[in-house]
Amino acid sequence: MTETQLFEFDNTFATQMEGFFAPARAARCAKPELLFLNEDLARELQIDPERLRPRAHLIFSGQELPEGATPIAQAYAGHQFGGFSPQLGDGRAMMIGEVVDIHGAHRDIQLKGSGATVFSRGGDGKASVGPVLREYVIGEAMAALGVSTTRMLAAVATGEPVYRQDVQPGAVVTRVASSHLRVGSFEYFAARGDVERIRQLAGYAMERHYPEARDAENPYLELLRAVGRAQADLIASWMQVGFIHGVMNTDNFTISGETIDYGPCAFMDTFDPGTVFSSIDHAGRYAYANQPRIGQWNLARFADTLVPLIASATEEAVELAQGALEDFAAHYEARWLAGMFRKLGLQESQKEDVALIGDLFKVLQEDKLDYTMSMRGLSAVARGERASIPSAAEDSASLNSWIARWSDRLDAQSMSREAIGEDMDAHNPIYIPRNHKVEEALEAAIAGDLEPVRTLLQVLQRPFTESAEFASYALPAAQSFTSCFRTFCGT
Ligand code: AMP
Ligand code: MG
Repeated sequence: MTETQLFEFDNTFATQMEGFFAPARAARCAKPELLFLNEDLARELQIDPERLRPRAHLIFSGQELPEGATPIAQAYAGHQFGGFSPQLGDGRAMMIGEVVDIHGAHRDIQLKGSGATVFSRGGDGKASVGPVLREYVIGEAMAALGVSTTRMLAAVATGEPVYRQDVQPGAVVTRVASSHLRVGSFEYFAARGDVERIRQLAGYAMERHYPEARDAENPYLELLRAVGRAQADLIASWMQVGFIHGVMNTDNFTISGETIDYGPCAFMDTFDPGTVFSSIDHAGRYAYANQPRIGQWNLARFADTLVPLIASATEEAVELAQGALEDFAAHYEARWLAGMFRKLGLQESQKEDVALIGDLFKVLQEDKLDYTMSMRGLSAVARGERASIPSAAEDSASLNSWIARWSDRLDAQSMSREAIGEDMDAHNPIYIPRNHKVEEALEAAIAGDLEPVRTLLQVLQRPFTESAEFASYALPAAQSFTSCFRTFCGT
């Protein structure tokens, strides 16, 4: 690396995967301005933030290409709301390269909103300040919550107008991913009957994410299983924090198991399994409670692409793939339950526990309780600091009787109530990106005031630690806000 080089790129995809991408170049913008730079993440990526900062507005708007960058747009297809599009691809994103992080892992650096590519299909390839900061805030909040996710390195305003329903200030978000491979990457070549390219892509995916799969008796089946486990873990952690992705299309379903594409996503307030926030999800396909089932559906689309590699006889391959899909469901159930055990302070499992947990969700739904506040409130109950959790239905008999059952269950454990409460606090966040707080902060940013987003980022950095100063961030929005809240695709 030369003295002046900021990024130590090692671009495996651009060098090894000819035919899987097209060259890309950013649109010119006259006055790029740095909005946010994630210095901790820069350090994790072995990039010196001090040296980066003065050039960040140029690099992360694509105006200046750092030495060693190979800007590309990746090809992919995808099932969107169940229907197949054979040609999607990075229509408004450009990967500039891969760096090796402090743990030795390759991480993609991608500019999103940097202008049109060969995959833009008539779109402008741009993004605007609101959706860019939304992705930045929610992505970083998810990371702090311990959910596997793509990360946000920078947000830059381009100074250019972006034309949507109205005129918006343009912006680019720089996203970091352990790779941008998706189920849709495989579907692109499956749709073209290109089995050799699927084999090559699967080999690359194993090398990068699941090296142990290469040594398995059936490496392609093992890849499918490994992706299934990673996605089952991911979706279980979404369900535990009340996150609704909103657009679980196969082009947004990563091979790594990281959350990608924070478009019309949101956190659930009042517990309701049918919650949908996305303005485009009319049928509720991607509602909160549907997410595990959709995960399995997406994994099945991945399996479809691998069938020719899993076994030469289709029938045999399909049967093996079917087994991997069943494993996904079992793995998800186990992870979800283990997470709920931690959230409720339960140690060694007993056979009544599944019913106990299920009954809590019934009460939360019937009494229209805030999911995050209720779960956090239970740790205070565990400690004996309060008898019940605040309920919309005053003095809820069903809640109180559930709490009595759960208390007896806790008393039967050897761990002290104090220790249980402490443990529960570490698994039940007090601060999540509350929809009204996010909207309020984004509106201010669009109008030129970055302070509310800065504060929000600070609050969400430590989601498990209560701070009196940030009390208002723990509260749900007024019902009048929630009942008409919708999120839109960041287009
Ligand atoms: P997303 O909803 O961000 O997952 O994008 C789905 C597909 O639409 C991807 O192929 C994107 O590249 C493409 N796309 C979304 N917005 C734009 C845009 N403004 N210009 C060009 N392509 C876009
Ligand atoms: Mg996408």
